[in-house]
Amino acid sequence: MKKMKKKHLAITLSKLRGFQNPKVELEQYRTPGSVAAELLWLAHSLGDIEGKTVADFGAGTGVLAAGACLLGAEKVYAVEIDRDALKIARENIGSLQLENCIELVCSDVSNFTTTVDAVIMNPPFGSQNPHADRPFLLKAFEVSNTVYSIHLAKPEVRRFIDAFSGEHGFRITHRIPVEFELPAQFFFHRKRLEKILVDIYRFENQKRKRYMFRI
Ligand code: SAH
Repeated sequence: MKKMKKKHLAITLSKLRGFQNPKVELEQYRTPGSVAAELLWLAHSLGDIEGKTVADFGAGTGVLAAGACLLGAEKVYAVEIDRDALKIARENIGSLQLENCIELVCSDVSNFTTTVDAVIMNPPFGSQNPHADRPFLLKAFEVSNTVYSIHLAKPEVRRFIDAFSGEHGFRITHRIPVEFELPAQFFFHRKRLEKILVDIYRFENQKRKRYMFRI
């Protein structure tokens, strides 16, 4: 398949279906196409997508998983706890004919045990259940040496992420602030469209050798 340019990727991903009845307690808001494209393009440019095995944690509607396949990932595990969300992911993946690249895994991320080249994720931000992002980070650091994730760009969140990644042997190689548009899908959002600031992170295992020779 011919690979896409960043802008085209953002447009393609933003056309995918969103959550039908988003569940507040699971913090179901889809990753906007532009934010997904930003994360995926960074990962792709650093050689973390093409030909790689990837896991999308909290895959929801499948936006990140689909994007990784469009950029040449060999295989993507889309791990999601909610069956209703996975139905939409299946539809989205079918609409792009990516069935052969993506395996849908209906599971709590904590129960996922397959080692992968990279994890990409937009976990719950923890605005409903404080620290809901912890099991995601913990599992990502367990199954991969390279992790991409999205978190709120707030000083206290940044401090937490700095400390938590360091404690688990990971260093932050990139932190890119971007705008994230939240649709007014939850009753407590008063504005029709709310813009928040988030950080896209790339973490790398500190023990990972910078240069590896492959046979
Ligand atoms: N990246 C997705 C969804 C992000 S919202 C998209 O763009 O559509 C976060 C997702 O994490 C939700 O779909 C929610 O159902 C899922 N989730 C929350 N807790 C989870 C857990 N413990 N294990 C797996 N998925 C979980």
